[in-house]
Amino acid sequence: MQFDNRSRRSKMLRDINATRANNQSFPSSGVGNLCMYDFAPIEEITLREFEEIAEQRLKALRKIEELKLRHEKGMFDEYKASMAKELNPIFKPCTLHQINNEELRKRIRRDDVIGHFALRLAFCRSPEDTKWFVTHEIELFRHRYMNETRAAILNFVTENKFDGGMINSDEREEHLKEFADSFGCSLEKVRLADIWAMDACDALELARKRKVFLSEGKAYLEYDSLITIIVQRLRANMYATMARANQYRGVIEEQDRLFPRLDRLTKGGCGGKDFNAAEGQSISRHQIDSASAQFFPLCMSGIQSHLRKNHHLKHGARRQYGLFLKAIGLSLEEALAFFREEFTHKMDSDKFEKQYAYNIRHMYGKEGKRQEYSAFSCASIILNNPPGPEDCHGCPYKHSSEERLRAALKAAKIKSEHIDEMVALSKINQFDKACTLHWEVSRGQEKGPLSTLITHPNQYYELAKEAAGGGPKVEVKTEVKMEISTQ
Ligand code: SF4
Repeated sequence: MQFDNRSRRSKMLRDINATRANNQSFPSSGVGNLCMYDFAPIEEITLREFEEIAEQRLKALRKIEELKLRHEKGMFDEYKASMAKELNPIFKPCTLHQINNEELRKRIRRDDVIGHFALRLAFCRSPEDTKWFVTHEIELFRHRYMNETRAAILNFVTENKFDGGMINSDEREEHLKEFADSFGCSLEKVRLADIWAMDACDALELARKRKVFLSEGKAYLEYDSLITIIVQRLRANMYATMARANQYRGVIEEQDRLFPRLDRLTKGGCGGKDFNAAEGQSISRHQIDSASAQFFPLCMSGIQSHLRKNHHLKHGARRQYGLFLKAIGLSLEEALAFFREEFTHKMDSDKFEKQYAYNIRHMYGKEGKRQEYSAFSCASIILNNPPGPEDCHGCPYKHSSEERLRAALKAAKIKSEHIDEMVALSKINQFDKACTLHWEVSRGQEKGPLSTLITHPNQYYELAKEAAGGGPKVEVKTEVKMEISTQ
């Protein structure tokens, strides 16, 4: 084990030295607003600044998640407009092309790279966190790409050594028919289009979608398809370097100073955070009704009421609710007893054991593939497995009729003016804002607004417990010198 750490540490030092030797601090700092993040920054920075820059970027990624939730497929124009209106003002790199002051531009580029690598380090520890980070970084990149001029994009492609370029008119005429067939357009359109020849290895995703013409190791594609190639490389690069950064974490001697800060960044309810019962956190089946009334979001308190009333839950609700209860600390034994007590109002225990107990043990990783399952995030509840007419799972702000949503909020003793506000928010797909408002008004306005949006039912629960006095203490910031490299 020690040998393993030593070899990893020396490999890490070799990588850092190679980066230094290349003098690659911010290589993609040309005229454009885009960056491939091929090299980690190597300058010295205080922990406080590191944390502030990372928080700023995380805020932007959370905003993107919020906007994606608000705009379903097919609402691309609205999504694009909201990104410009709500993301640009809180994240300076998105407006870099509007800034003329060269010093300021340099500073923004530097923070862009530092923020990106700080979050790579924070989000590299679990596949779920990594996936969440990569997905939203790619979305951020696409947004910035769309605001770039064609000249800046062409410069970016050259600067980042993508092997390819625009073909000339003779070459175009030679393959005119093949291009029209591959791109699914007319010969006339091909004659007017900019066509690029790239290394076929860079265009695998487009080849899979049959959107390119392949010949002699080259992939021919339309200018509009360039983004797919760039994003494919960026995504692969992020996954590979984050896997490596995760290996290095064990040998970085920053357990006391840096790691608690990185841990804090991944808390606070991003879609990729796994909620698991913290050590010592437990709840018994007898406490569930009281916890539901005080600390559960509307989706979970609704399922609890349905269970008490009907003594049964269908598959979707059993899974959504069962994993939520597991993540707030309900043990397997208590979960089995809890569901058995309710279900056996309507069936004998033999039937419960045969049809339902396996399912509960499976959620706790004791059957089947013996896999640990995480509680569902709001994004997953909203986007996957929508409830049918007989189901009680899902997100009430997204899936319930206005009448049922009003009734549920009234039963939760929410004032009518707040109900109106939450219904209005849910009508414009701002489910997270509606849920956050529910959290706020349920705790009394004197507690002040919540500083984050609710994006996970277990985040709602943990913040509600914390507000009631049962949460973790806030750590005081200190300032020390550090050097970062996550490559
Ligand atoms: S927004 Fe999330 S936590 Fe709130 S009710 Fe919907 S799914 Fe539950």
